[in-house]
Amino acid sequence: MLKNLPTTPQEIIAWTWPAIEPYYKDLEARPLSAAKVDGWLAAWSSVGERIEEMYSRLSVATSINTADKEAEARMNAFLDGIFPKVMAAEQKLKEKLLGSKLEPKGFDIPLRNMRAETDLFREANLALLSEQQKLAIEYDKIYGAQTVKWEGEEITLTRLAMNFQQPDRARREKAWHLKAERQLSDRKAINDLWLKFMDVRAGIAKNADKPSYREYTWVQRLRFDYTPEDCKSFAAAIEKVVVPAATRIYQKRKQALGLDSMRPWDLVDGWFSRPTHPAGIPQLKPFASIEELRSKVSAIFHHVDPVLGVYFDSLIAEGLTDLDNRKNKAPGAYCTSYTSIRKPFIFVNAVGTHDDVMTTLHESGHAFHIFETAKIPYIHQLAVPMEFAEVASVGMELLASPYLTKANGGFYSDIEAGRARIEHLESMILFWPFIATVDSFQQWVYENPKEGADPATCDKKWGELWDHFIPGVDYSGLEEVKVTGWHRKLHIHQVPFYYVEYGLAQLGAVQIFGNARTDQASALAAYRKALSLGGTVTLPELFAAARTKFAFDVPTVRKAVDLMEGVVRELESKL
Ligand SMILES: [Zn+2]
Repeated sequence: MLKNLPTTPQEIIAWTWPAIEPYYKDLEARPLSAAKVDGWLAAWSSVGERIEEMYSRLSVATSINTADKEAEARMNAFLDGIFPKVMAAEQKLKEKLLGSKLEPKGFDIPLRNMRAETDLFREANLALLSEQQKLAIEYDKIYGAQTVKWEGEEITLTRLAMNFQQPDRARREKAWHLKAERQLSDRKAINDLWLKFMDVRAGIAKNADKPSYREYTWVQRLRFDYTPEDCKSFAAAIEKVVVPAATRIYQKRKQALGLDSMRPWDLVDGWFSRPTHPAGIPQLKPFASIEELRSKVSAIFHHVDPVLGVYFDSLIAEGLTDLDNRKNKAPGAYCTSYTSIRKPFIFVNAVGTHDDVMTTLHESGHAFHIFETAKIPYIHQLAVPMEFAEVASVGMELLASPYLTKANGGFYSDIEAGRARIEHLESMILFWPFIATVDSFQQWVYENPKEGADPATCDKKWGELWDHFIPGVDYSGLEEVKVTGWHRKLHIHQVPFYYVEYGLAQLGAVQIFGNARTDQASALAAYRKALSLGGTVTLPELFAAARTKFAFDVPTVRKAVDLMEGVVRELESKL
């Protein structure tokens, strides 16, 4: 064991590199043998856990109070002075472990990941990777600077887009055109940036001896259990099964809104997502205070699973949540981990909307993952692949949904809960074709790097894919906006290929929901078992432990969509 490690939160956030370095030096110098490796890993883990917790605690401190200058200074000192040195020290220990040829128990997956990352590493790529980072910042700058004049006021496009929720169609359309025109005025800037992205990415792949940037990303994202071909099968299954279901939803909503055709300004995101509410349906007002949000969410979780209910209550009791929205608080929501004590922290900006309820349920799913992995010995075994991490959170949204009603201690009348659940399930169905569009586009770009680096050809390809996967929205006369959709999806520019994960996770989550409808106790037991495995087994093994199929095929997708449409029909019959 290592002596004098920091233990309290105050000690952890005040850690310095001169205090940290001797631990890494000691670990590096220790001789490794089969008899000693477990103790060595435990010592390494106890250092790594505290570094990770330091980062989490500093992130929490800076986001719960953006005006906290001391927290900000500590975060900057961590990022500039500690983080790069820790990365280099961690890499040395990884190489030491790999060089020892030892295979500690329960370490197959961490070793596999370390080998892949070490194989992919090239000194020559460091400059290109930071160049890519800078281009990503450029991308943010272009979109961040976009404002418009709306009713005499200079406002951001995000605020303008809130008009898409309005029942007044003429107003929605006007706002939509204004947003589209503003974005199109930066068409050349995004196209120019794209050429630079493609250039840097070709260089990164070449340096890493990969035939294309796609092959590079596959390793970098540690995608060992599925291939680009699998993603294509998934897109084909979505086209066959989900696209008709999505078109049915648009049709139904078009009738409810009394429209001839579903135009992009009739959708809440002005793009592909759920349609605007018909006039006359009141906004949900689930809670008036944070206390009410907490106690109702707690009641819901106790119905889902008594142990999960207790987990949530302990978060509240121990001050491990910050749920309200206030001045000097960062936007958004997240769940992070205090790794040395294996406890989560949940951050939300709740103002009283239904989205706040769903976000709290979602982040709690991530929190339950951290509770369930508390007994895993080493930090290296805690890295859960994204494809499964989101099964825990999206799965929890669905598992909790039957208990949203007041009769279960929740928020809504039966009718309100029914409407909210229908919208939730329909949004999930509408999301899959969009995921397929984004993924298919990127597969094509990096398979055909020459055409992929030509913005005009990209426009053409995106337009074709859009017509294929999202035929339910009428874009006639709006072709320029349609074909430049790839500009507006930041993942394509900033985190290439990172998107299909959401589609796979959603498929897992729906299967768990289906299991719970037949036998809730055993579905929850499997869910918790799968979460408790952390990152110690492969992705298909995680899915199997949750009693779900990790699959890309038509039958699996069809079963999920049939279930979702069936539940929607059942809920509609009670409205
Ligand atoms: Zn999440």
